[in-house]
Amino acid sequence: MNKTLEKYYSLLEEMKHLNSISALLSLDQETNMPPLAIEGRSKQMGYVEKLIHSKITAPEYINTINSLYDQYDDLSEIDKRSVLLSKREMDRSTKLSSQFVEEFAEIKSKAQNAWFDAKQKEDYGIFKPLLQKTFEYTSRYADLIDNSKKIYDVLLDDYEEGMTVDQLNNIFNPLRDELTQILNSIPERSSKNVFKSQKFDKDITRKLIKEMTAKIGYDYNKGALGEVHHPFETRIGDNDVRINVKYQEDELSYTLTGAIHEEGHGIYEQNVNPEYFKTSFGEVSSLALHESQSRLLENMIGRSKPFWKYFIKVLQKYYPEMNKFNYEDAYSDLNLVKRSFIRTESDEVTYNLHIILRFEIEQAILNKEVKIDEIPEVWNSKMQKMLGVTPKLISEGCLQDVHWSMGAIGYFPTYSLGNLTAGQWFNKFTIDHPDYEKQIESGDFSGYFNWFKTNVWNYGSLYTCNQLLKKITGEELNPKYFIKYIKEKYVK
Ligand SMILES: [Zn+2]
Repeated sequence: MNKTLEKYYSLLEEMKHLNSISALLSLDQETNMPPLAIEGRSKQMGYVEKLIHSKITAPEYINTINSLYDQYDDLSEIDKRSVLLSKREMDRSTKLSSQFVEEFAEIKSKAQNAWFDAKQKEDYGIFKPLLQKTFEYTSRYADLIDNSKKIYDVLLDDYEEGMTVDQLNNIFNPLRDELTQILNSIPERSSKNVFKSQKFDKDITRKLIKEMTAKIGYDYNKGALGEVHHPFETRIGDNDVRINVKYQEDELSYTLTGAIHEEGHGIYEQNVNPEYFKTSFGEVSSLALHESQSRLLENMIGRSKPFWKYFIKVLQKYYPEMNKFNYEDAYSDLNLVKRSFIRTESDEVTYNLHIILRFEIEQAILNKEVKIDEIPEVWNSKMQKMLGVTPKLISEGCLQDVHWSMGAIGYFPTYSLGNLTAGQWFNKFTIDHPDYEKQIESGDFSGYFNWFKTNVWNYGSLYTCNQLLKKITGEELNPKYFIKYIKEKYVK
């Protein structure tokens, strides 16, 4: 068996190299690639995807995995989890032809460019044909994987192991009602314009972000800060985890909260136990877990009073004009509850309503209840119903997010699962660390860092989200902790 395991890990290593190459191509497309390179880049991406697919579906790999799976009970805990995740991925891949994989990868790469162009020009028509194709291929994908299941269930399972539409409805329906009620009870406040009070120079902000992220615990020896149009974090390979931010010189809060959010993702990947690097769970596959760490750092830490008691002084060091504001001004502006259009700029109370809107629209498109032509209109009327506002620009409506162009359909719900999971972690963390506020006020993030490193980050994907929640907090996902947190913070 040792020989088979050795072979398995060496084949897995090849696949990891190819995934790294693909991630790097994609990062470059978002950051430095010249516009006319898109045709070539789409082909390169398609080629690498096809290569990965051919490796996963090669008889040598299939036989190796199946033979280990036959001896499953004799494997160590670590080998068990790795083989299980590899088998899951292999079972899916063998259901797709290499032609399908290559075509879909090319469509997604082109769709991303078309989306960006359409958003800039406020012209849905530029994106529509590729969006149509993306949804078509997504439906075909789900059919090929398992046509006995609901399309949306197949897609969800890709992003969150075991999650289903029924489970989500059970979570989202009461959540929607509860949040709408809370939203209606919060009086409108006006902004003090702390973060819009001047022009925030990109180069200065970059230095500020570097100091902030390093202080919290992001390690620049295994990370780097890049600039993009839509902030994201990406794991290129072992000890190579990049965070990318968008600089908005007229609104610093957007840049800062984006950076701290991506840091939450980055710090997680940077702190997975290196002994797991060679396995299939050496990176974080549960998006709910991933998002729980970014949202927790962004909101529960980054938008908290203790954080701003410390951080306002750092900010004032870089921007002396900010001396006219105190930490309470910053806290107040960062926690304004507002009925707004843009998900990524929305507050903690309305954020999940933005997600539920997307969850409903995606299902309606896949179930053929809404045509691609009708998306802008359906989007706007749902927005009006759920949040009481109607976007005037399409870039503030259905074109605001990159996800559909990347073929990431069924992905949005994991953001809400992340928020809810964050609430549960935060509850447990504050019980274990009743003095955490004092620590953070003094700029000491070690209590936060060590608790999460030990209890969450370290494990990579050794456990599913629910398994890890159960192990550390004593119960599976329970939305009540998030609601409790929101009520304590916003309902006076
Ligand atoms: Zn995120």
